[in-house]
Amino acid sequence: MSDRVRVRFAPSPTGDLHVGGARTALYNWLFARHHDGVLILRIEDTDVERSTAESAEAIVESLQWLGLDWDEGPYRQAERLAIYREHAERLLEVGKAYRCVCTPGELEERRKVALAAGRSPRYDGRCRDRRLEPEKPWALRLRVQDAGVTIVNDIIHGEVRFDNAELDDFILVRSDGLPTYNFAVVVDDALMEVTHVIRGDDHLSNTPKQIQVYRVLDFPLPQFAHVPMILGPDRTRLSKRHGATSVLAYRDLGYLPEALVNYLVRLGWSHGDQEIFSRDELVRYFELTRVGHTPAVFDHAKLDWLNAHYLREALTDTRLTPTGVPATLTGFPPTVVEAGPKRLAALLVEFWLKAGVSKEEIGAATVRWSSLGSARAFAEAVVQTFGERSKTLCELAQASRFLFGGPIEYDVRAREKYLQPETQRHLQEVCRRIRNVSSFDAATLEKVYRDFVAERGLKLGDVAQPTRVVLTGHSVSPPLFQVMELLGRDISLERLEAVLQQKND
Ligand code: GLU
Repeated sequence: MSDRVRVRFAPSPTGDLHVGGARTALYNWLFARHHDGVLILRIEDTDVERSTAESAEAIVESLQWLGLDWDEGPYRQAERLAIYREHAERLLEVGKAYRCVCTPGELEERRKVALAAGRSPRYDGRCRDRRLEPEKPWALRLRVQDAGVTIVNDIIHGEVRFDNAELDDFILVRSDGLPTYNFAVVVDDALMEVTHVIRGDDHLSNTPKQIQVYRVLDFPLPQFAHVPMILGPDRTRLSKRHGATSVLAYRDLGYLPEALVNYLVRLGWSHGDQEIFSRDELVRYFELTRVGHTPAVFDHAKLDWLNAHYLREALTDTRLTPTGVPATLTGFPPTVVEAGPKRLAALLVEFWLKAGVSKEEIGAATVRWSSLGSARAFAEAVVQTFGERSKTLCELAQASRFLFGGPIEYDVRAREKYLQPETQRHLQEVCRRIRNVSSFDAATLEKVYRDFVAERGLKLGDVAQPTRVVLTGHSVSPPLFQVMELLGRDISLERLEAVLQQKND
């Protein structure tokens, strides 16, 4: 067995990459990087009915987005069928496996009878000693060692004992010639010289079967580490009922990869009471012995908190490393090439488009803001103004939607509260003054408002708050004068005048 740590992530491409799978991938990645080892990506696609090329692509895309790179692969089991066949033949020749001609119908019938008689519905070993060389389709079964116990020495669960009498002669190769998971996984892990099998503990019960396959094939055993499942708040296995479960869904909801990684690593692993980790710290501190053996509960509020943290961090961290990666992301492969607000701005433009804002609307808003600006520069200014307040990029895109032309939605209560007849006169005067300012920037606008309220003996809020409601639709927004600068003179006046007009009617 290799002296170097060699681990693998072996997803079945039967759907998107679930956050539980992503955490398994992350633990494998961290373990490999911590030990300066090798991470292999292996797509387990022998279940031809359920596997799709799209799922395999989505898994690769998810891993890339999370910044989890691999050193070997992706291997595809469907391309390795000759290898499994060769090992199956070897087992058949030495009598460790045998051909079975029982049909699915017969097996089902015997299962029912066994259950009705209160016996275990296991395969009854009917073909075990028949030495068949059949014409008709056959499956290859392992002649299992059915006495004694198999002990799994698991890094996370400790010593787990399985009674071999519970095992039946399970299938290694199906009658269609395809290997089963329990067979292919052992052949691959052994040939790929995997030293540590780190996977979900839903596979713990498969491990005694796999250990039997290692033994008959004379392969050395790897170490096993079975990571507990992730549960929803009701303590059932995390599923779509509990909200988004796939990595790409979180990306599309506006979470940053570093936030999801930081969130997932802590679901089951700890390092003192530290919550926020840089990539480098994770690689330095990660140990499988610090992974708990009880299931973790997915907590959306904590993920939001971490995402808000990383959004704020991305806003301020403009340091690029020599390879062009933002400094907070060191350890990520260089898929992110811009740092700080520039990175968020590029993402925000995508989220605006997804929220239904057209390219033309973004272009027009940019020109209103600055005749020389680019959409990216405009988005960057928006990010600077709104970024601190949002938990996700989706929220940021929604909160800044009123910057684009067209009707906006008014919070009716705010409108009633702040748009009283006496404020109307003030707004009229303010409109007159801001129409003529030489530069429509936050500092100039603030001075206009402050001078006006001082002259009239008013408080700033008496005029600023109604303005905010008219321009944004709500009584809460980022600092008003920055918002006005982003909106530009034309839209600001247009909205104020439209409201004054309605009030006069
Ligand atoms: N392909 C299996 C799955 O996606 C994982 C197998 C393993 O890690 O051993 O559940």
